[in-house]
Amino acid sequence: MVDQFDLEHIWHPYTSMMNPLPTFKVKRACGVTIELDDGRQLIDGMSSWWCTIHGYNHPELNQAAKDQLDQMSHIMFGGFTHDPAINLGKILLKITPPSLDKIFYSDSGSVSVEVALKMAVQYWTAQGLSQKTNFITTRSGYHGDTWNAMSVCDPVTGMHQIFGSSLAKRIFVPAPQTPFDADWNPEEMHVVEQMLEAHHQELAAFIIEPIVQGAGGMRFYHPEYLRQLKQLCDKYHLLLIFDEIATGFGRTGKLFAWEHAQVEPDIMCIGKGLTGGYMSLAATLTSKHVAEVISQGEAGVFMHGPTFMGNPLACAVAYKSTQLLIEQDWQSNIRRIETQLQQLHSLAELDHVANVRILGAIGVVELKYNVNMRELQHCFVELGIWIRPFGTLVYIMPPYVITTHELEQLLQNMIKVVREMEQGVHYGVA
Ligand code: PMP
Repeated sequence: MVDQFDLEHIWHPYTSMMNPLPTFKVKRACGVTIELDDGRQLIDGMSSWWCTIHGYNHPELNQAAKDQLDQMSHIMFGGFTHDPAINLGKILLKITPPSLDKIFYSDSGSVSVEVALKMAVQYWTAQGLSQKTNFITTRSGYHGDTWNAMSVCDPVTGMHQIFGSSLAKRIFVPAPQTPFDADWNPEEMHVVEQMLEAHHQELAAFIIEPIVQGAGGMRFYHPEYLRQLKQLCDKYHLLLIFDEIATGFGRTGKLFAWEHAQVEPDIMCIGKGLTGGYMSLAATLTSKHVAEVISQGEAGVFMHGPTFMGNPLACAVAYKSTQLLIEQDWQSNIRRIETQLQQLHSLAELDHVANVRILGAIGVVELKYNVNMRELQHCFVELGIWIRPFGTLVYIMPPYVITTHELEQLLQNMIKVVREMEQGVHYGVA
């Protein structure tokens, strides 16, 4: 089952090269079914980390890729443009905050975050405020693995603490505290205001994942936080950056999470579900105002231009995926999934479960101790489901095409395993 070459030579995410976590070899995937090399079939609970919203091997997305392949898979974006980039841009501007008007395509979520941070710095330097180069963010955030994206991740739960002082020093405020559907506690903005008051002269922007903090803790917070934050950013002259890379394309029950608060950012990053999980593509959107200021600065241009910018193959699939999503009654579908996920609440009574939370098509069971990933992963696969826990979190965000029956199987097995953990049957503490 284990591929020896893979084991010896190929690095997998966040795992040791010498004593790696097991990897399962996949032969194919279709809909929500992942088929392993040995013929076993798994129901996907992860959407390949938020992105395969329409499931795997979707006929219309396949066709969009094939059609585009026959035209060109890539062409440089410097000096050229093409219909896939234009069509995608048009559809994105229809579904993103009305004040966002300019689109910068890039290769991955992390790069789109780098682009957003660079835009913010150029925005202020163009106005002669070259001291406004630092960033402020919340604890428990996650924004990617590249250098500056790492610097705005949670210094402890954001997986990058090992880089310590080699990362630029950012300003952190506590993670938003009021849960999504609890009574708003206005007190929690005091510390944010204090930090902004103290540091605003050196700050270019506040970066935050709206409503759902993903890889930094799978936390859902109150929309009022964003409304208050926007006011504070205006008051203290900071741009507001929303990282919607995980939350975008319907996952939280809104097309994008900013809609829960009706607060528009100055800059927004999207990725993951953008191509329906077919290939890597991301975009950073901003307003006409920010783009104009940057363009009037000393440089006269925005200083970024990746080789695969606006890759036609990715743009063509992203256009089709976005069209597929918005042409269907995706809201009812997410509500269907959300309703079924409520079953997870039955786990809240267990002694070893700290919290259960559900929002849109995301279901999270937070335990009181770190799971043993190696054992738990093995156990899920034995039961025919694909869930990849981390830290204290066992969570799912399945492709939207999952049927009620498939979701039932996924949930029943997940519930079974979490219950058995209490009885100490297997999967000990890491
Ligand atoms: N921001 C958020 C909120 C994310 O969840 C991720 C990916 N986990 C990223 C940024 C980085 O995206 P990528 O992995 O495509 O670089």
